[in-house]
Amino acid sequence: MTVPTALMAGKKGLIMGLANDKSIAWGIAQALNAHGAQIAISYQNEALEKRVKPLADQLDHEPMLIKCDVTDTASVEACFKELGEKWGKIDFVVHAIAFSDKNQLKGRTIDTTLDNFTMTMHISCFSFLEACRCASPIMNEGGSIVTLTYLGAERTLPNYNIMGVAKAALEASVRYAAVDMGKQGVRVNGISAGPIKTLAASGIGDFRKILRWNELNAPLGRNVTQEEVGMSALALLSPLGAAISGEVLHVDNGYHITGMVSLEHAHESGEVLCEF
Ligand code: NAP
Repeated sequence: MTVPTALMAGKKGLIMGLANDKSIAWGIAQALNAHGAQIAISYQNEALEKRVKPLADQLDHEPMLIKCDVTDTASVEACFKELGEKWGKIDFVVHAIAFSDKNQLKGRTIDTTLDNFTMTMHISCFSFLEACRCASPIMNEGGSIVTLTYLGAERTLPNYNIMGVAKAALEASVRYAAVDMGKQGVRVNGISAGPIKTLAASGIGDFRKILRWNELNAPLGRNVTQEEVGMSALALLSPLGAAISGEVLHVDNGYHITGMVSLEHAHESGEVLCEF
């Protein structure tokens, strides 16, 4: 973690998608908190509030907890209404939410059911546009919105399946939302994070192998941490990112630029995953 500064002092905003201390959203919350931001955290339902409360208690600057189930438009609207009523204007929103039926994060993408396609797109993509719409009236000029995406939006990756399709739509949504929100001086960006072992990621088939593959083949030779994603999010959410909008920033130790397995580790990559 970087040395705390006052970079975000006086800035307030909402983090959506904090499940536990392994969540990428927790890395972002810690970075924003360390640099002075006041944070509201949304939780899906009462049972999950119990999980989130002990984390919120670790934050300074009087954090707020708000219920928000993104499958329910009324819940999303109520969340931002409450935020506006309690805090007036806000400066940032972090959208770190995705969901798909775990049984369809393996096997063939073409076997995705309509129900799961619709649910995956709703929770993982539409919820981002809806959050932008609801945040719009209460965002300060100079504000910033960040969502989380993955390389599976750009290229096929084993078992990522329909989530890759949803992330592609999410990345396009970042660009369109950046145009809409830019009219009020608000920036919108995505972070394409390398794989991190979280609750959501554990639903992806063979995720352990994906982690190892990235570690062996990323130019920096290791996996990214939630703290590192937090620092990049801090840059995009703060004045450090003042001229960046509509961007998808890869925070993956450079893995996305590679076109072939690392020759240095080819033997192990081969042993782990394929005949090389
Ligand atoms: P995580 O800790 O499991 O977070 C996922 C969050 O989505 C949870 O807080 C979950 O809430 C929330 N969510 C799901 N359905 C929801 C709903 N209907 N309403 C409100 N919230 C809902 O996993 P994570 O890996 O940090 O995921 C955060 C984001 O990073 C996701 O968009 C993910 O695709 C993205 N990402 C992850 C990786 C990775 O390798 N981990 C890499 C790149 C991008 P509940 O727990 O309350 O259901």
